[in-house]
Amino acid sequence: MSAPTPRSGTAGRRRVLILGGTAEARALAARLADEPATTVISSLAGRVADPRLPVGEVRIGGFGGAPGLARWLSENRIDAVVDATHPYAARMRVAAVDAAATVGVPHLRLERPGWSARHGDRWHRVPDVDAAVRALPALGRRVLLTTGRQSLPAFLPLTGLWFLARVVDAPAGPVPAHVRLLRSRGPYTVDGELDLIRAHRIDVLVTKDSGGPLTEAKLAAARRLGLPVLMIDRPAAIASSTAVATVEQALGWLSARHAQPG
Ligand code: NAP
Repeated sequence: MSAPTPRSGTAGRRRVLILGGTAEARALAARLADEPATTVISSLAGRVADPRLPVGEVRIGGFGGAPGLARWLSENRIDAVVDATHPYAARMRVAAVDAAATVGVPHLRLERPGWSARHGDRWHRVPDVDAAVRALPALGRRVLLTTGRQSLPAFLPLTGLWFLARVVDAPAGPVPAHVRLLRSRGPYTVDGELDLIRAHRIDVLVTKDSGGPLTEAKLAAARRLGLPVLMIDRPAAIASSTAVATVEQALGWLSARHAQPG
């Protein structure tokens, strides 16, 4: 691949693309929207029917893989890309690295840290959804499944278990009798999670290691009740990408890029 040509901003204004769908992405967009020298465009996949919209310009829908994103970056004269997609959005982040490299746009990954087990936790870490499906029957019978709509089909063959599947949007079509859907998107409180677990006699929790405060109450509730937690690990990080863990760090990275002569 030939050496990428750096973009140049428009009359001193920099144009930042945030790949979003997370609280961090919205927080970053809100901070950048306050900067007069920055135009911020947030991108959402369009998976959720009624998404929480960030401040500023928003575009919705896939780009068509890395080539489509590379084209979009060029056509929209983007000066920097911050990939703040969810830790489990594995395809988008690979495409973002590739596309940014292709067109020579600086790229940053903003990813919140995962959760850490504390005293009293009964976590069982597994590498992926398939491993979770295999491990689950040995851990419980009544499952609070919080891994989202996309992973639900993988658990459906476990007909000997009962699932309370918490999802933002319902999947298309009916769900089988051993699954009850609970449409909700948090944030959640420990008391609320305790009530939910007790009301449905849940004896095991399945979760991704999403990290952050908005959905961690279920872990505290499971700890308090002594429930096992099946924790699905994050996809492996991309070694070549520059990554930060907080919105402040992302702002610092953007400032440093903006200060550099083009
Ligand atoms: P994914 O598997 O990495 O992405 C699948 C495809 O969706 C991508 O190839 C891309 O389509 C499109 N896409 C993903 N994020 C996009 C974005 N921000 N803007 C435009 N297109 C995007 O991701 P996913 O797991 O389906 O997640 C989809 C979105 O939901 C992400 O933006 C993520 O931040 C958010 N989210 C995901 C989870 C989760 O657990 N996975 C949880 C909360 C929020 P093209 O190839 O056509 O460009």
